[in-house]
Formats: sequence, structure tokens, C-alpha cells
Amino acid sequence: MNIPRTSYPRVVIIGGGFAGIALAKKLSKQEVQVVLLDKNNYHTFQPLLYQVSTGGLEPDSIAYPIRKVLKDFPNFYFRLANVEEIDTAKNKVKTNIGNLKFDYLVIASGSVTNYFGNSDIEKHSMAMKTIPQSLNLRSLILENFEDALLTSDLNERNALMNFVIVGGGPTGVELAGALAEIKKGILPKDYPDLDTRLAQIHVVQSGDCILKGMSAKASQKAEDFLEKLGVNIWKHVRVTNYDGKTVTTDTDLTFETATLIWAAGVKGATIKGLDSSDFITRGHRIDVNAFSQVKGFHHIFAIGDVAYMQTKDFSDGLPMMAQPAIQQGEQLGDNLLNLIEGKPLKAFTYKDKGAMATIGRNKAVVDLKKWKFQGVFAWYVWMFVHLFFLIGFRNRMVVFINWVYNYVRFDREARLIIRPFKKRHP
Ligand SMILES: Cc1cc2nc3c(=O)[nH]c(=O)nc-3n(C[C@H](O)[C@H](O)[C@H](O)COP(=O)(O)OP(=O)(O)OC[C@H]3O[C@@H](n4cnc5c(N)ncnc54)[C@H](O)[C@@H]3O)c2cc1C
Repeated sequence: MNIPRTSYPRVVIIGGGFAGIALAKKLSKQEVQVVLLDKNNYHTFQPLLYQVSTGGLEPDSIAYPIRKVLKDFPNFYFRLANVEEIDTAKNKVKTNIGNLKFDYLVIASGSVTNYFGNSDIEKHSMAMKTIPQSLNLRSLILENFEDALLTSDLNERNALMNFVIVGGGPTGVELAGALAEIKKGILPKDYPDLDTRLAQIHVVQSGDCILKGMSAKASQKAEDFLEKLGVNIWKHVRVTNYDGKTVTTDTDLTFETATLIWAAGVKGATIKGLDSSDFITRGHRIDVNAFSQVKGFHHIFAIGDVAYMQTKDFSDGLPMMAQPAIQQGEQLGDNLLNLIEGKPLKAFTYKDKGAMATIGRNKAVVDLKKWKFQGVFAWYVWMFVHLFFLIGFRNRMVVFINWVYNYVRFDREARLIIRPFKKRHP
């Protein structure tokens, strides 16, 4: 990889997501050599992926070059590399561009979509975990309407305009709200010769409420907002299969649809070498102690979505969200320096800053520790928080201007089929 060995200890970080970037920033001016490896040369702001899928934002405005984040840091190296294996015996990572030795290794590889072993659903459904996947979804949604215009088969037309979202978490809820707004505000103008009132949006949820991790008030209000927007919410229904045409469930309910969006779960993005049952636990995440150390190692760590850390308040592991990832990254920065200097390590404590989700224009729900609120003010808070956490001044400005423009004009101008998506037909 052409990275010189220096007198500084080498810290290799796998993944430039929220956790990896937070850690790298913390180590930026310290006497360590930091090597960050990521299979993309950009950081993805995943909370806004649904806006890319629905034409509200261009993909570039939620991505940021990793090299630019860390450009002024001495002793810092970035390599565009897919890490394929971790050799814990030789303290080495194996990648598609070569091998690299480490003194300390931090796995911050995030998570991947969890299909719970259903290969049909994996093959035929759409996921929304990466920018390319969001662009695929954007293309498919738009292509469906173009195809709906052409067919004279009513069943086929309905299936093309029928959107089924599996999972009533923040991703499913936000996507459903955005699709409902497109149906109301954009489709009638773009497709005047198509009866777009027939378009349907369904959210299928196996549990008894949507936004399960949030307060009962937030969950109920989100449901009310979605229903007002015309979204059908199906609770206590578990999707069992999808062959590319028909969605079957564990009830009598079935859906004919050309688009099933799978937002029903994620699992840790583990890497060969540390992916055996000795290390992996609930949610296919790597079991770590309160110092983020992988069991059995003092110099190998996991942080963010891929790490399973139990705390007093989170006996099922910390949530797979941006805040735990950022806080773990920052804390590990301090602990790595402590470890190198032979000082005691500090146990991680999570400062829960709450949760929020937006349902659409003027509609959001926010749960803070001591204050829970919904509606227009919540929507402003949601926008402010998302702008604040976006990386890069340009991205913040572009997103802000887009939001103002979309708000004033009731528009979503990025509804472009730049890279057509070819769905595999069953
Ligand atoms: C659609 C969606 C909406 C979300 N909304 C919210 C929200 O509103 N609020 C919230 O708090 N959280 C939200 N989340 C969750 C949040 O984005 C994650 O919890 C967070 O990104 C986890 O950070 P991370 O650093 O652990 O992983 P990530 O941010 O996923 O970063 C992992 C990085 O590792 C790289 N990588 C993975 N494997 C390898 C490999 N083998 N080799 C090299 N590089 C690799 C990836 O390319 C990626 O850059 C959302 C997630 C999604 C998908």
C-alpha cells in the first residue's frame, strides 16, 4: 500500500462512516500513524438517503470525500480498499489492494441490510443502505410511472404504482411520507394522462406500532400523519416472501407490486477472521467490552453499528444509530492514547440525545430526554439537527437551499433517471 513505517504506532481504521471519522479526527494531531481504509472514497450521510431515493436531494449533497475531511492531518493515510480478511495472529488486514500490518485495529465497518436468510426477498426487493442503492430506487420509482403510462393492463398498471415498504422504523416512515408527498404534489403535474390517484403506499410492520424505539406519543402521531397523507399502515403483519410480483405475508394479505422496499432490519458488517461465533453475537455484531475491545484482544476494537456493546440502560446493545457511533469513536480516540501511554482506560458511557423522524412537510416527531414534541416545530428541529451533522459547508448550503426551494415550490427537481435500473424479472 506504500505506507511507510514510522516510529509512531500504526492505527488502522476500517470504515469512514460516523464512527471511523470521529475516531480519526480525535487522533488527528497525536503521535500515531492513522491509516483509514474504506471501499468508498466518500462518507455517506445515511439519514438523508431517502431524500435521494425520492428526488429531494442530489446524491453528491449527502456524500463527502474522506480525504477532504482529514486533509490537514499529519501522519494520516487514506486508501480506497475493501478489507477482505483480518489476520489476528499476524496483526494484518488483507484487502483487494494488498496487505497491511497494524499495531492497533479498529473495525468501524457499519452494517448491511438483513434479509433474515430470505434469498427471494434479497434478490427482488430494493434496499436503501448506500447511495448507489438509493439511486437505483429513484430510477425504479420513476421508471414504474413511465411504464404505467404505456400499459393497457390495469393489474399491471396498479402493480407498477403500488409501493410496499417493509419496516415501520424511521427509514420506512420517512420514505413512506416522502412517497406520499410525491403522489400528492408531483405525480398529477408530471403525469396528467395517468390516474395517479390509484398509486398506493403501504407500510408493513410485524409489531404493534411504528417507530418502535420512540415514545408511544411519537409513534401514534407518526401514524396519524402518515394516514392523513394516505399511507396504508399494516401492523401485526410479517412479510414472508416476494417473487418480484407478489408479496406474501403471514396473514391472508398479499400485495401485487413491482416495488418492494426492504427497510426491516440491518446486521453488523462483519469481516472474515472476526466473524465466527466466538466474536459475533446478537444482530450479527461483534461483541465488545466497555472499552470497545473485541473479546480476547487488547489491541483490536470495534465501534459503531458493527459493535455490540451492552450498557446498564441498553441491555440489548446500543442502538444502531449515528450518535452511539460518533461517541464511541471519540471515546476510543482518548482510550487509544491512554493505552499507548500505559494509562488506565475509561469505560464508555452513552449520552442518549434522543431520537427523531420526519414524516413530511411540517410533520416530524422528536423525543428528547425530557421533552417530546411533534408537528411543525419538531420538523424545524429535525432539519436543523440534520444540517448540523452533515459534513461540509457546501453540502449544508446545498441541502438547505434545496429544502427551501422544495418547500416554497412544492417540488423535487432531482427526479431524474440518470442511470436506469433494470429490475430482474421473476
Ligand atoms: C436509510 C437510513 C436512515 C438512517 N437514519 C438515521 C437517523 O435518522 N438517525 C440516526 O442516528 N441514524 C440513522 N441511521 C443509522 C446510521 O446511519 C448508522 O447508525 C451509522 O451510519 C453507523 O455509523 P458507522 O460508522 O458504524 O457505520 P457507517 O456509517 O455505515 O460506515 C461504515 C463504513 O465502512 C465502510 N466499509 C464497510 N465494510 C468495509 C470493508 N470490508 N472494507 C472497507 N470499508 C468498509 C463503508 O463503506 C462505510 O463507509 C440510518 C441508516 C440508514 C441506512
